Amino acid sequence: MDREQLRSRIEEDLGGIVAGEVLCNAESLSLYATDASLCEVWPLAVVRPRTTEDVAATVSWAAERQIPVHPRGAGSSLAGGSLGSGVVIDCGRFFRRILQTSGDGVRVQTGVIAAQLEEHLARGTRSLGVDPSNGCVTTVGGMIGKNSSGSRFLRHGAMSGRIESARVVLADGAIVDLVPTAPVSPGQFDPQQADDSQPAVATPAAGGADKLVQLATGVADVLASSRELILASQPTTRATHGGYQLHDLIRILDRDGLVDLPRLLCGAEGTLGIVTEATLRTVPVEAHTAVGLFLFDSLDRAAEAAVRLRPLSPDACDLFDKRHLTLARSAKPAFDQLIPPIADAGLLVEFTAADEQAATARFDEAARRLQGPRALCIDVRRAEGAAEKAVLWELSRSVVATLHGVRGTVRPVPFVEDVVVPPEAIPDFLRRLQEVLKQCDVTAMLFAHAAQGQLHIRPYADPRDPAERLRLERLANAIYGEVTAVGGTIGGEQGLGLTRTPFFAAHFPELAGLFAAVKRVFDPDGVLNPGVVTGLSPAQVAWRPPLADQHVEPSSAPLPVLTWTAEQFADEVDACNGCGTCRSQSPGSRMCPMYRENPAEETSPRAKANLMASLLSARLDPAALGQDAVRAIADTCFNCHQCRADCSAGVDIPAIVTELKAAHVEINSLDLHSWLLSRVDSLSGLGGAVAPLANRAIANPQSRWLIEKVLGVARGRKLPRFTGQQVMRWATRRGLTRPSRRSGPRVLYFLDTFARRHDPLLVKALVAVLEHNGIGVFIDPRQVSAGMPLVAAGDVAGARRLASTNLRVLAEAVRLGYRIICTEPSAVTCIVHDYPRLLEDDEMDRVVAATSDAATFLWDLHREGRLSLDFQPLSGPSQPATRILYHAPCHARIGRDKSPAEHLLRLVPGLTLDSADRGCSGMAGTFGLSRHNYRTSLRVGLGLVSAMRSGGIEAGATECSGCRIQMEQGTSKPTVHPVKLLAKSYGLLAGPGPDRLDSLLTGRSGPLTTS
Ligand SMILES: Cc1cc2nc3c(=O)[nH]c(=O)nc-3n(C[C@H](O)[C@H](O)[C@H](O)COP(=O)(O)OP(=O)(O)OC[C@H]3O[C@@H](n4cnc5c(N)ncnc54)[C@H](O)[C@@H]3O)c2cc1C
Repeated sequence: MDREQLRSRIEEDLGGIVAGEVLCNAESLSLYATDASLCEVWPLAVVRPRTTEDVAATVSWAAERQIPVHPRGAGSSLAGGSLGSGVVIDCGRFFRRILQTSGDGVRVQTGVIAAQLEEHLARGTRSLGVDPSNGCVTTVGGMIGKNSSGSRFLRHGAMSGRIESARVVLADGAIVDLVPTAPVSPGQFDPQQADDSQPAVATPAAGGADKLVQLATGVADVLASSRELILASQPTTRATHGGYQLHDLIRILDRDGLVDLPRLLCGAEGTLGIVTEATLRTVPVEAHTAVGLFLFDSLDRAAEAAVRLRPLSPDACDLFDKRHLTLARSAKPAFDQLIPPIADAGLLVEFTAADEQAATARFDEAARRLQGPRALCIDVRRAEGAAEKAVLWELSRSVVATLHGVRGTVRPVPFVEDVVVPPEAIPDFLRRLQEVLKQCDVTAMLFAHAAQGQLHIRPYADPRDPAERLRLERLANAIYGEVTAVGGTIGGEQGLGLTRTPFFAAHFPELAGLFAAVKRVFDPDGVLNPGVVTGLSPAQVAWRPPLADQHVEPSSAPLPVLTWTAEQFADEVDACNGCGTCRSQSPGSRMCPMYRENPAEETSPRAKANLMASLLSARLDPAALGQDAVRAIADTCFNCHQCRADCSAGVDIPAIVTELKAAHVEINSLDLHSWLLSRVDSLSGLGGAVAPLANRAIANPQSRWLIEKVLGVARGRKLPRFTGQQVMRWATRRGLTRPSRRSGPRVLYFLDTFARRHDPLLVKALVAVLEHNGIGVFIDPRQVSAGMPLVAAGDVAGARRLASTNLRVLAEAVRLGYRIICTEPSAVTCIVHDYPRLLEDDEMDRVVAATSDAATFLWDLHREGRLSLDFQPLSGPSQPATRILYHAPCHARIGRDKSPAEHLLRLVPGLTLDSADRGCSGMAGTFGLSRHNYRTSLRVGLGLVSAMRSGGIEAGATECSGCRIQMEQGTSKPTVHPVKLLAKSYGLLAGPGPDRLDSLLTGRSGPLTTS
């Protein structure tokens, strides 16, 4: 049976018995072919189980046919641990429940994200303690698989110290609850009998004890047979080791007489069983820490300092090399201030204690040792307070992200990655490492958890160049040789995966033999993640193929259609390293609102880069560009640009998505509803021409039903009233439609559709505010709508026509010395980001540089001391301050200042401003208008809408018209553009009644709802 036939069989067989999802289409498989490593392996199928029984059914089906299975969490491994050619089991999609919390433990499903678990535990002042730097992405299952740890390993250890028990699907599909188990002597155990009595879930109480005893006895036999070898090759003094943690098992067996089977899963990388639930021990949250950054004039001195600090038992001791410090300095102004350019290395050190004084005293002692006689460091930056500690820790947390920021074909690659050496051997090892790098003519970045002897080494190389592969393999062999020479090991917190297993076997053949023996106890037929931890030669490991060289011009649609060359486009796609940070669930970032709503791999931003990479390398038939499966994946992006802003490599995912959508449109054209919605600007124009009629229509349930059927606009969506052609008539009367005659600063106000058709008061407010500040205003009547809905729909030709008209108008104004400002952030994004991708024009750069949103423009005026500050209170003397909920729209956040409108509103007296901080509104332009997306849009924006409903909030404020519509959905409270509040506070908006916000709003066009 070939792979296609097998796929049909899988769909038929597993599709019927698995409650979760079974994916066999090429587009979906392409998303699971990579992780954060250099490898690419296409799976046969992907199963996204909803229950442990789903996993069991999949494994037993696969085992019967000798098809391998590969568990996967977030797919953020740097060594290819979750990739394979069999059935990938995505435990990160549905296994997301925290099941039970006790005083010192927690029971979770293994798809739970570490950061979410920490957030949950923090409510009870507990923590998992284990702190991988990518905790906002990594799953508990992946952390168990890799035996993850972090900077605070010295205090909290790795996952192996946390796991108490685990529900596991074994290689034959049996479900067992693994607990530490006493082995029996050889001959006392009959494996056949154990298998026959296997219940559905083989808990010890339910009679699964036999299975546990069988496994424990098998493992104990291996331990007994090679005790000396294990103790010599995996000394307990070392941080953690690639592969099975056998040394730990011997220690526990000696102490308790039990084989700690759950612990054995940590570092097993899914090769012994698939964990669906785990009980983990938790620790109290540390209250008092002292943190500082020691700076050195050489890496050697920093390494020596780490050795000198070891007797003080620091809780964390991270070492950075010069390259890392330089990158950090250029990435963040805070680091630029913190780290002087003369520093060649740094050590981030943390001490914890029961009280503040004790923590400080521990740090003082460290400083004394490094600064006193025979001083090693040149300076120390000590953190005062939580905010400064967070800044220092950011240096460590962003290490990998900073490396990902290095663009170009030659960049630091995750091939050698982490090795562990005895901590006292670090200075010696670093000298050896420099020698190897020199011999191999390679530069590398270095980061180390120094006090635990763990080093991350990233050589610079072109990962897609086949010739580089040999060079990297030679380099890896040479480095691992030195690691072995100083008594170290390969693979610490990041495991062996596909890329390092062969090297491990070559450098530690005896230990690798033992691993194979343990593997046989659990999985004699090699069903579970074969090639990881045991087996495989380097030649069998598949590397991601080059994109640009093998670029295939798809026959069915031109690609790329935007202004980049094929090579530039391939480079952009290639810049995604698969780290998965775009799967972040961290409340501290806005990364991908769609992924938060639907945490499936295809929704993540990296999926779009992976899909495009598969198309460009022709692994995926270019004809797929016309398929609905590709369009469905592309449509999970609604163009909010948060991924582009927060991606460590700055990958332009929105533009990649535009390419995907454009190709689909080229082949299939837009469907009627998408076509109509993408022309919302023209529709609004039509509505405005017959405003009274249109307003009656959007207020009438019957006509809303019809509008939904014909235009696809959700009937439950509140829509803004039309105001006819008032704005341009008013602007003409005011003489604004001719170039301003004022001397001094002048702006061209680029009107968006919403302001023009629905909110004339906003236009008047901005003009009044600008003129109040002595700025001349010009509203060029030749401008047309920006075209964002067309870009979002993939109608590049349509968007290009609008862009071309606008560019002529805007370029002319810029030549005359105007700045371009808009009150709609999406219009700014369209001009600044999309126009250069749509058109090649000599004047583009100047137009882009001259364009900003109104709030940024006004905030810049304030910073230059030129903004008039004669604001009047928005509430009367006897009235309480007006309480407003401010929401920063996604498109405004990607500008230079994250929240200029909020800063401006804080200048207004008599206004209490609450920052919403609830993520994306979910409206995303026309996305939330569509009846297909209406509910998704509401779910994404639920946090914001709920915040609007909360007591005390009188109104909302935001610059984005879409967000504004969403904020008014489900509440009668109005939402206004911040510029209107400024105008009101300047006393520029005449309104009847008392000086309250209500009077301000009399001029606004209230949204209507019908059903
Ligand atoms: C930017 C970045 C920073 C990182 N920082 C750290 C760090 O500080 N510390 C650290 O330890 N690692 C770090 N890593 C490496 C990696 O992210 C972690 O090892 C992480 O724990 C992997 O989790 P995951 O959910 O992505 O798992 P995956 O990559 O999907 O899987 C990891 C391994 O576990 C297995 N596995 C997954 N789920 C299960 C399951 N349910 N049952 C059994 N086996 C399973 C897989 O088969 C695979 O072998 C970093 C990686 C990146 C890209």
